[in-house]
Amino acid sequence: MNYLNSIDFAKQQDVLDPLRKYRDKFYIPQHDGGDTVYFTGNSLGLQPKSTQDYVLDELEDWANLGVEGHFHARKPWMPYHEQFAEPLARIVGALPEEVVAMNQLTVNLHLLLVSFYRPAGKRVKILCEAKAFPSDQYALESQVRFHGLNPDDVLIEICPREGEHCIREEDILAGIERHRDELALVLIGGVNYYSGQVFDMAGITAAGHRAGALVGFDLAHAAGNLRLELHAWDVDFACWCSYKYLNSGPGGVAGVFVHQRHLNQSTLNRFAGWWGHDKASRFRMEKGFVPMPTAEAWQVSNAPVLSMAAHKAALDIFTEVGMEALTAKSEKLTAYLEFILDEINKTLKSSPTRLEIITPRNIRQRGCQLSFLAHGRGKELFLSLQKKGVITDWREPNVIRCAPVPLYNSFEDVYRFGVYLSEALSI
Ligand SMILES: *Cc1c(COP(=O)(O)O)cnc(C)c1O
Repeated sequence: MNYLNSIDFAKQQDVLDPLRKYRDKFYIPQHDGGDTVYFTGNSLGLQPKSTQDYVLDELEDWANLGVEGHFHARKPWMPYHEQFAEPLARIVGALPEEVVAMNQLTVNLHLLLVSFYRPAGKRVKILCEAKAFPSDQYALESQVRFHGLNPDDVLIEICPREGEHCIREEDILAGIERHRDELALVLIGGVNYYSGQVFDMAGITAAGHRAGALVGFDLAHAAGNLRLELHAWDVDFACWCSYKYLNSGPGGVAGVFVHQRHLNQSTLNRFAGWWGHDKASRFRMEKGFVPMPTAEAWQVSNAPVLSMAAHKAALDIFTEVGMEALTAKSEKLTAYLEFILDEINKTLKSSPTRLEIITPRNIRQRGCQLSFLAHGRGKELFLSLQKKGVITDWREPNVIRCAPVPLYNSFEDVYRFGVYLSEALSI
C-alpha cells in the first residue's frame, strides 16, 4: 500500500475503513475541547458507551431483587460467567470448555503455575523471556521458592543479543534444546509488553513439547490484539487480563485457557475453591472437591458480576466485529504509523535526534503496538506530546510505546500524532 503523510489521505482511509463506526461506540478522552490521540489502549482500553448500561442493569437487579438476583436477575448471577465461554473462545482460538473468565491476571498465573509447574527430579527449570513484565517475574520467582528451589538455578532467561532489542526466535528454540533434559516449563509473553514483539507461539509450543516440557503464555498484550489459535497450537495453558485490548475497565476480570487434554485430570494439583466444584453438586456443600469438567475447575470464588458486566459490554463488541476484521485494520493502521515515523526520521537527517523503531518490521511479529527509541531525547519529548493531547506511554530511558487500536483509533489519529511529534521534536 502507498501511504501519504497528508490529512486528506488519512481522512480518505477513514472513510474506507469498514470499522469506522466503532469509534463512536467509545468515549474518547478529551483535551482542549477535542479528542486526544489515545495510543495507550495497550495499557487501559477505552470505555464502550454501552458499559454503563450493562453495569447499571446489575445494580438495579441487585437493588430490586437482593439475593434472588442469583436466579432472577435479567442475566442471572449464578451462571453469569458462563456467558463468556463462547466469546472468549473465539478471541483466543479455543474450545468453549477450555476458557473461563475469573480473577485477575497475576492471580490466574499463580493458580495455573500451581497446576502446571511440577518440578520433579532433574526436570525443574523454567525457560522465560528476559525482562518479562515484572509481575510475571515475581510470580515465577515466588513459585520456584514455594517448591523449595532457588530461582537463580531454575529460571533460564532468553535475552536479546547484544545491541538488539528483540529476542531472536532461534535463540528461544536453541535455549529449549540446550536444556531439554531439565526443562519443566516454558512460559513466555505472547507479545512482549516493551518491544511489542510477537512470538511464534505454535513453534515455541511444539519445541517445548518435543523437549518434554509444558508450555504456557501470558497473553496480556495479545488477547484482543492478535489472532490466536491456542487450541490448534496445542498450548497447555494461558492467561490474560481484560483491561488492555479487551476494554473491560481498570482491574477488570481476567481470563484463563487450559487445553482440553488437561481437563478432567483429577490428579492435577490445584488451589481449589467452591466455584471450581462440579456445579451439579456444588450446593450440596459436601466434603470432597469434585472439579468442573471444564476450565471452570480453576475458579476459586464466585463471580464478580459488576466487573463482569463491563466485560460483557466489551466482548459483545468483539463478537460483532470479529478478530479477522480487527486484525485486518490493525495491520494497515500500524503500518501507517510506521510510515509516518519513517517520514519524520527523513526530516531529522542532520539533527542528533533519531527515532528507532524497536518493534519488528515484519507484520507477523507484531500486533498493533509500535515502540520506538527517541535517540538524543529524554522525557521532555513525551511530556510535550502529552501537553498537546497525545497519550502514549513512556519507559525509561527513552522509549515511547504507541498502540493505535483498530476498534477506536483512526488513520487521522495517526496523522495527527505525526504532526504533534514533528512539532515536539523541532523544539
Ligand atoms: C499488564 C500485565 C500484567 C498486569 O497484571 P495484573 O495482575 O493484571 O495486575 C501482568 N503481566 C503482563 C505481561 C502484563 O502485560
